[in-house]
Amino acid sequence: MSCRKYPELEGRVALVTGSSRGIGRAIAVRLAREGARVVVNCRSSTGAAEAVVREIEDAGGEARLCVFDIADAEAVKEGIEELVKELGAIHILVNNAGVTSDNLLLRMKEEEWEKVVKINLAGTFNCTKAVLRGMIKQRYGRIINITSVVGEMGNAGQANYAASKGGIIAFTKSVAREVASRNITVNAVSPGFITTDMTSSLPEDVKSKMLESIPMGRYGEPEEVAAVVAFLASDEASYITGEVIRINGGLYM
Ligand code: NAP
Repeated sequence: MSCRKYPELEGRVALVTGSSRGIGRAIAVRLAREGARVVVNCRSSTGAAEAVVREIEDAGGEARLCVFDIADAEAVKEGIEELVKELGAIHILVNNAGVTSDNLLLRMKEEEWEKVVKINLAGTFNCTKAVLRGMIKQRYGRIINITSVVGEMGNAGQANYAASKGGIIAFTKSVAREVASRNITVNAVSPGFITTDMTSSLPEDVKSKMLESIPMGRYGEPEEVAAVVAFLASDEASYITGEVIRINGGLYM
């Protein structure tokens, strides 16, 4: 495949959670373009995930599908054990899958709180824990967690989402400290407002207000997030760990 920037990624196995669409899809496509053997994951949008696998294969890359709910610790463990049996190892984990369920705090139901924290934060814990032993044994790993500008600056109506994403930052730094001596880096990328299904469903007035607060005057594209993830997965980023890299057009600095 042409346009490779990080040839060292050739043959490395990369699991990208929530890669049936949006940012996860762009990350899967980018890592595959760099020569990685990509595992596309989703919970229920299997048709879309299969289309991502086909897209990668049609472009000459290698991909396979692995469906599990990241919030289900047992399913994650089984899914990842199966992958390791088939592919030999997991070198790169991108904890990307995430959801929102917005409401003002006084109106927020316990289920809305629990759903978002269970998928975004506990899901990141489940997947990281399931790959970590293998990474420690092979003395190599790259873990990249997708947090959010909202986890850094807060957002009215998103206390559950902000708490889950802020938690991911603290989680990233803690695990980075635990495994740094094993040649495993753990970093986070923090996107601002990126055009995906998650953001297209926001009301028009919220979107235009948001646009006014972005110094670059535009939303980001999933590929702009994928470029930073590919860098963090590469050997160029070998001495970066516990870091949070913002991709937000200046929205928060
Ligand atoms: P999206 O378009 O809504 O896609 C979400 C992906 O996650 C889908 O593939 C979805 O698949 C998967 N997913 C959701 N719950 C899952 C679960 N329990 N288990 C496995 N997969 C699951 O979202 P996006 O906008 O690309 O966002 C991707 C990540 O970036 C999220 O963590 C989000 O919080 C973060 N982020 C997004 C923005 C933005 O502006 N878009 C900004 C900052 C951070 P199924 O439909 O099959 O569940």
